[in-house]
Amino acid sequence: MSKKPTYTLCVHAGAGVITKENLSDSEKKLITEDIHASLSAGEEILSSGGSAVDAVCAAVVCLEDSKHFNAGQGAVYSRSGQHLLEASIMDGATLKAGALANTRRIKNPIEFAKTLLKRDDIVMISGEHADQLADELGHELVDNKYFDTVFRENQWILAKKLSGTATFLDHSNLKMGTVGAVALDAQGNLAAATSTGGMTNKLDGRIGDTAIIGCGTYAHNNTCAVSCTGIGEYFIRATVASLVSNLMEYDGLSLEEATKKAIHDHQGKLGGEGGLIAIDHLGNISMPYNSEGMYRGSINESTDERKVFIWEEDEKF
Ligand code: ASP
Repeated sequence: MSKKPTYTLCVHAGAGVITKENLSDSEKKLITEDIHASLSAGEEILSSGGSAVDAVCAAVVCLEDSKHFNAGQGAVYSRSGQHLLEASIMDGATLKAGALANTRRIKNPIEFAKTLLKRDDIVMISGEHADQLADELGHELVDNKYFDTVFRENQWILAKKLSGTATFLDHSNLKMGTVGAVALDAQGNLAAATSTGGMTNKLDGRIGDTAIIGCGTYAHNNTCAVSCTGIGEYFIRATVASLVSNLMEYDGLSLEEATKKAIHDHQGKLGGEGGLIAIDHLGNISMPYNSEGMYRGSINESTDERKVFIWEEDEKF
């Protein structure tokens, strides 16, 4: 009898100031249901022998299409009151990647990132040129208002009030909500994907870690796949996603040691806040964070486990 294929999948839907006091039961229910739906979307692909790249893309599309997260519909507002979206994806088997920043009109930025990943002539594109190329390649474009939600508009108003014209870096009481996924498929290939609207009240044109391969997203079959969330400036300065891979490959650290070092010793000591999800080439999972909470979930087919968490691992949803 042939061995059953095994796969592993993790998703996140952002880190930040998510305390038990500032998250209502109804919000908690909607968010955890969406995380379960995202896990199911990715699992559908992995369980039928599909690729890690397709699985992470499907899991992220599901969260981009929900209004509850800061990616696709529900993205935050920039300084001028627009939604300027970012996404990136990487294939650990080929080290090919696709990334985009400051798109205003692409309905599902992660799908366009996957289109870029398949090309040899480009990795990253930004702004109007990204919208234009996505249109030419048949991706659905929407009006920027499609991404509007009252929840994020109120966050933007609050952010402006609290921080004037400064980027709202301390984001107290703001649940962030960038989304991402990492997967190991039955062929042993790893992939990572991340999508966001960035930081509330960000300067127009600012680019965060989510759009940058090696900072918010990284995958390498020799080591691991990583998707990050948190204050992007610190994740860029600590090159968090590729750091995890490098600590494993060159320093011989385990996935858990490498992820904790990257989050707590590197970006954390710079003053950053956030977390990451990661899977290694053996299917081990690690999801450390140094914020109050992080929306996240995982499926491990070999142990038949599905978990969704917001805070510590003793409280599952
Ligand atoms: N990392 C994202 C950024 O800085 C924000 C987030 O993860 O919530 O754009």
